[in-house]
Amino acid sequence: MTHPKLAVVKSGFGGRGYGIPGRTRVSPATGKTLQRIYPSVTTVLKQINKPGLHQWIADQTAAKAVTSLSYLQGCEQEVGYRALRFTWSRNSNEAGGEVREYYERVVQDAAELGTNMHEWSEADIDGMSEYPEPMSVETDEMIEAWIEWHEHHTIISHNQEFTIVNDTLGIAGTADADWSIRCDHEGPCLGQEPGQFVRTLVDLKTARNTWNDHGYQLAALASAEVIMREVVETHPDAIKAEKTEAGKKVISFWVEDAPPVWERYALLHIRPDDYDTQGNLIPRFCVLKDRTDDMDLYRIGFEGALALCKMEAELKSRAKARTKETEKH
Ligand SMILES: [Zn+2]
Repeated sequence: MTHPKLAVVKSGFGGRGYGIPGRTRVSPATGKTLQRIYPSVTTVLKQINKPGLHQWIADQTAAKAVTSLSYLQGCEQEVGYRALRFTWSRNSNEAGGEVREYYERVVQDAAELGTNMHEWSEADIDGMSEYPEPMSVETDEMIEAWIEWHEHHTIISHNQEFTIVNDTLGIAGTADADWSIRCDHEGPCLGQEPGQFVRTLVDLKTARNTWNDHGYQLAALASAEVIMREVVETHPDAIKAEKTEAGKKVISFWVEDAPPVWERYALLHIRPDDYDTQGNLIPRFCVLKDRTDDMDLYRIGFEGALALCKMEAELKSRAKARTKETEKH
């Protein structure tokens, strides 16, 4: 996956962040002017427990216990307890990391497939960009689902993969798509009149289910005060952005646009063929899920996660300052 140009690896909030040009802070230690880093919307939402994860951990622990029965019967309860627990407390870099990696796969749930799908749908809409190579059987199935959906919808794409900024909240993120959508079928997806185009902020999802935190994410992106647009160096209002990534200096130029007025906010949920827990086939699908009516609550959800994220970063920085203070004495 390519990372947005303004994104930086470390935000100080436990994940990726953004260095938006023109947002600076003064270092209390040196008095120097530094780039301010905003946490990314995804970093903020890492604070929230992923639904389904607890059950998955319970399942895995139960499976581990069942396969270790003879061992567990032969040792002290305390030892057996620690042995089962150990699976969940150890570091992913240590032996047994594959357990954690499997967990990551479940959580990420085909994140890369989603990226591929996004590029593919954009190419399909504008008719100019190159179609990416489908990466897997799953992608092929999702493309089929998309084509079927697209046959019944007319899309005008205004923007794709764009960086949004909210300076009031101090966050930035990448939105998938800014589309005007017309439904060419009965019972329009966004409640619009027949033949009417609706300007919609769309986030593409390829996870097994759509969860509340997808709504929080949509609300965060919808809160855009500014949209960053990359321009050539000679543009009269260009502001320069500079970062170092993998030892290389990356320089780019940007202007700030006001966000458009979106009428609806929706998730485009695309899935390949899958099986439910009983082994029944869930055929591939592509469906537009309108989230507009609950955007007020999703916004509260996002701000809750943001408060938690900022608080934890502050706790960490205080603890660090205390350690430094102790070292001095
Ligand atoms: Zn529709």
